[in-house]
Amino acid sequence: MDATGTVMRGDLLILGDSIAALGPSAREHVARLPAGTRLERFDASGCLVLPGFVQAHVHLCQTLFRGLAEQSDLLHWLRESIWPLENAHNETSMAASVRLGICELVAGGVTCVNDMGTVRHSDVVGEVLATTGIRAVFGPALMDAGDGVPPGMLVPAGRQLEEAVRLAKRFDADAGGRLRVSLAPRFILSCSEELWRDVAALSRERGMLVHTHIAEAPTEGAEVKGAKGEHAAPYFARHDVLSERFVGAHGVWLDDAELDVVKHAGAALVHCPGSNLKLGSGFADVKAWRDRGIRCGIGSDGGACNNRLDTFAEMGLASGITRVKHRAAPLPARDIVAMATCDGARALGLGDRIGSLEVGKQADIACVDVATPRCAPFGEEQPYAALVHGASSGDITLTVAAGKVLYDWGDWKTLDPLAVVEDARREGAALLKRAAAAGRA
Ligand SMILES: [Zn+2]
Repeated sequence: MDATGTVMRGDLLILGDSIAALGPSAREHVARLPAGTRLERFDASGCLVLPGFVQAHVHLCQTLFRGLAEQSDLLHWLRESIWPLENAHNETSMAASVRLGICELVAGGVTCVNDMGTVRHSDVVGEVLATTGIRAVFGPALMDAGDGVPPGMLVPAGRQLEEAVRLAKRFDADAGGRLRVSLAPRFILSCSEELWRDVAALSRERGMLVHTHIAEAPTEGAEVKGAKGEHAAPYFARHDVLSERFVGAHGVWLDDAELDVVKHAGAALVHCPGSNLKLGSGFADVKAWRDRGIRCGIGSDGGACNNRLDTFAEMGLASGITRVKHRAAPLPARDIVAMATCDGARALGLGDRIGSLEVGKQADIACVDVATPRCAPFGEEQPYAALVHGASSGDITLTVAAGKVLYDWGDWKTLDPLAVVEDARREGAALLKRAAAAGRA
């Protein structure tokens, strides 16, 4: 799929970390390569070759909490489970959590994530991301205020921003440009006015992405309105946080006037339908976002609130929600796939490098087998319907990021799945003990 959604039958040539040729020109290009050039070949017959999926909102630090936080309401879920569990992380449990999430994601065709971490252990997150080979924007969750936040997770704004800059200096030049550090203030209720203002200034100064949550749940919206006297979008606009570098997850409760504010600022939103349904948050009106021209991607959110990190599941839910909300004119399946690929990349400011299969772009690729009973008989002829309504992450045959194979027919190249799961079980159990000792019920 290129930027205009062209679907073609043919070959794709990767040289180094980039796409060198597509379609008929690929074979001609190979014929011109110097004698002795060694090429690896992958048979993608019966498959769709796609730009790798962009998961535009995830929390890899929460993969270890899967099944441990089953409340159906955002604020209780955060205060009673997630924050105490995050507070119990140490370096080894964090590494195990990130590896578990990446193991699942790359086997599902994901080549890029936009991750919000927790307040500590961000170096470990970056180190694991670097070794797994995935592309990532990541940043520690910034929190310096709010009800129910464990005291150990509240860090003064100045110190958090110094830390974010240090991480950016360490990782932005690392891993061949695959990693970028963001500023990730968690949400309005856990950040002081000073923190938002400092985040806005630092983002402007260093061009860093601001990744946060916006208008996710009705109870959160009511607390924001009660505490700040205004809704989320005007609050962010007043603090200069909304800009073309802003990525806000959820946006379920943004009304028309707020969406106009978001559009006017050039900010991006991320739809997380699986999380929104499981936490009972509501149904985002993604068609209204797209009709306004707001850049938007799709995300699974965390392993604790979904619980699967599966782009296919999110695409199916996203499509279903727009069909219920806009029966006469729902979003076409192609738009849903775009949100998971090129539009997700644009939402993260990476649209010039990834998100579509075009010569010169980074070779971030996923192959999906559509010759399965799930997608037959017309998986190849109706690719968008197959991807949104038929296929599942188990149909991924190949995942490539920056020209490097990460997953090939059940074979993980940078991770050992059995060891990852065993490690996650051990680290998860130890983390639960630490959380219990610290007073979590
Ligand atoms: Zn989230």
